[in-house]
Amino acid sequence: MGVIDELLANNESFADSLPSAHLPLQPSRRLAIVTCMDSRLDVFAALGLGDGEAHVLRNAGGVITDDVIRSLAVSQRRLGTREVMLIHHTDCGMQKISDDGFRAELQAETGVAPAFAIESFTDADADIRQSVLRVRRSSFLPHRDQVRGFVYDVDTHRLREVGAGA
Ligand SMILES: [Zn+2]
Repeated sequence: MGVIDELLANNESFADSLPSAHLPLQPSRRLAIVTCMDSRLDVFAALGLGDGEAHVLRNAGGVITDDVIRSLAVSQRRLGTREVMLIHHTDCGMQKISDDGFRAELQAETGVAPAFAIESFTDADADIRQSVLRVRRSSFLPHRDQVRGFVYDVDTHRLREVGAGA
């Protein structure tokens, strides 16, 4: 049995343990979170969030890509979110690669140079500041006054805020 089959069995137990309920489509805390795909960050548990409370957008690094802006635009313009919380973390996989090196690896192994930016980084604090700026400067987003950046320590589980001006 593969891992996915195990998860399907887990879902049966999960669904059996809960009453059926329909929550509103709009997140009740009017919040969108952008963070990394890292498997050690349980966003809902770490922030005390429940179902139906926030949008959570994840990719490798928690990078503000065009697709993240697309999701934030829908989140704010159609689904009522107002605040944006950006979370990078310690020991990120995107700190272990370089843009040029990973791009060259992809091209060497496939013959195709990727059209996407790799968006690796070395300094999580510097990158989260850049991410805050990208959100604040996107005119597609009507709500840009409450955008805050953080770094999550995967060992201590604590969030540290990164000042945009620091
Ligand atoms: Zn990461």
